[in-house]
Amino acid sequence: MSEKSGKNERSGRSGKDALRTYRDKRHFGRTAEPSGEGAARDGDEKESEDEPSFVVQIHDASTMHFDFRLEVDGVLKSWSVPKGPSTDPQDKRLAIPTEDHPLEYREYEGVIPEGEYGGGTVMVWDHGTYRPTSHDKRQRPVPFAQALEKGHATFELHGEKLRGQYALTRFHGREEQDAPSGGNAKPTWLLVRTGHHSGGGTPDPRRARSARSGRTLRQIAEQG
Ligand code: MN
Repeated sequence: MSEKSGKNERSGRSGKDALRTYRDKRHFGRTAEPSGEGAARDGDEKESEDEPSFVVQIHDASTMHFDFRLEVDGVLKSWSVPKGPSTDPQDKRLAIPTEDHPLEYREYEGVIPEGEYGGGTVMVWDHGTYRPTSHDKRQRPVPFAQALEKGHATFELHGEKLRGQYALTRFHGREEQDAPSGGNAKPTWLLVRTGHHSGGGTPDPRRARSARSGRTLRQIAEQG
């Protein structure tokens, strides 16, 4: 891990340390969510050869929302998307950053016990790979992590439901603009379909079916 994550030295976060917040929030004796302890080596090997993966989960927690996750440098960079991704380029979907998740989380589907962090039902709504497509002004490819750091990343999703070009763009709400640098207002992002309208529009979480098991939220909740 250390060799490849050398570029992250400034922030002092290897892929594994990046999961500290994730682990601090959870009791792995009570939730079946992955701890990510075995993830680092696996992720490293995969990283160089294959396209990175993505997953969109529906999370029926205190508030129903979608979790949008992209594999970057051995972890899943994550955003909570209240309304879910849209296939309509007119829809700009709010995406609120959440803690990095371990790679194994892309396969997690089940019920987080009530009272635990994120308690509720999780469905793997869509999964697949993505191709980073960010370029600089001279049309040279920009590493995805760098594009995210700069606040604008474009990518092509190869999922079962979501296919084609999307963009994540950071914007700063009024609160943050007014705050002095280091203010604690969280940046917000927009997730937007940038290709042509591909049909489907916005998924209805109650009717949606898992890309992993074909089950509805209700069935997952009943079966665990
Ligand atoms: Mn969630």
